[in-house]
Amino acid sequence: MKNIKYYAYPSTVKEALAVLLNKKYKAMALAGGTLVAKTLPDTVETYLDLKNLPIKDIKLQAGNLVIGSGATFDEIDRSKLCRSWAGGVIAAAAAKCSSQLIRNMATIGGNIARPHSFNIFPVVLLGLDARVRLQTKKGAKLIDFQDLYTSGLGLRPGLDSLIMEIIIPAKTRKWKCEFIKLAKTDSSWESYITLFFSAEKKGKSVTQARVSVGALSPRPFRAPETERAMLAGDEAPAAAAVFAAELEAAKAGEYRSSAASSLFKRFLNSI
Ligand SMILES: Cc1cc2nc3c(=O)[nH]c(=O)nc-3n(C[C@H](O)[C@H](O)[C@H](O)COP(=O)(O)OP(=O)(O)OC[C@H]3O[C@@H](n4cnc5c(N)ncnc54)[C@H](O)[C@@H]3O)c2cc1C
Repeated sequence: MKNIKYYAYPSTVKEALAVLLNKKYKAMALAGGTLVAKTLPDTVETYLDLKNLPIKDIKLQAGNLVIGSGATFDEIDRSKLCRSWAGGVIAAAAAKCSSQLIRNMATIGGNIARPHSFNIFPVVLLGLDARVRLQTKKGAKLIDFQDLYTSGLGLRPGLDSLIMEIIIPAKTRKWKCEFIKLAKTDSSWESYITLFFSAEKKGKSVTQARVSVGALSPRPFRAPETERAMLAGDEAPAAAAVFAAELEAAKAGEYRSSAASSLFKRFLNSI
């Protein structure tokens, strides 16, 4: 923080990107500022404040739910669209962020820009097959959320590119979903584990299944064997045993594995 020399306050994405890409400024994007203030590299000399950019809308577009990267947790929690999508899981997840003060400031773009074990949205977006639209020096780039943290991306959002919006595909609108943050208290950022479960059913058959897990590592991961058990129509106790085994293999430890598989069983019994 002591090395900050300039504060840029652009009102267009073009201006913002120009500052970011001009090596002279050594700029870093700042959205809500809740995380960047704690993790600012010494090399950064310019704060690039994104507050004035038109990147906050939450809207329906071609049947998809599109969330602007500048939307705060509170705006997502209160959004009618987010409250109605996939049983309201996106709004419910936003409401689990530790405190109202943070929810008022923290944005979804800032939440996903860097991998972080305890951040809420990565595990939800992974489970909802979300896509992310970035603005780079070569123009707009649309990627699957699951590719955001791969080295193959070749970008460092916030330093050489901007996250513009998150696109939740139309197919997920009616999915039955649940997000769980298993933590000591509701106001903890840290959690033992975060879980996202979803299923789509046709008659008695599960036709879509997603199980994603956060808090065990900076990047959330899916549990493919457990999803296969759901699609195969395994009874809840058997599918939960598969989940517990996958978590053990991921070194979750006994408490997390057994608690998470019980929560998964409860989800299966509710759908
Ligand atoms: C006390 C406290 C409690 C917290 N509790 C929780 C919690 O319960 N759950 C949770 O998930 N998180 C929590 N957080 C973490 C943090 O607040 C969130 O991750 C938040 O979403 C960060 O968003 P921001 O807008 O404040 O990002 P900033 O701090 O402004 O930026 C964070 C990073 O994202 C980059 N960035 C921001 N916007 C963009 C963009 N549009 N494009 C490219 N890069 C961008 C920045 O360059 C920076 O690297 C907590 C933090 C604190 C300090």
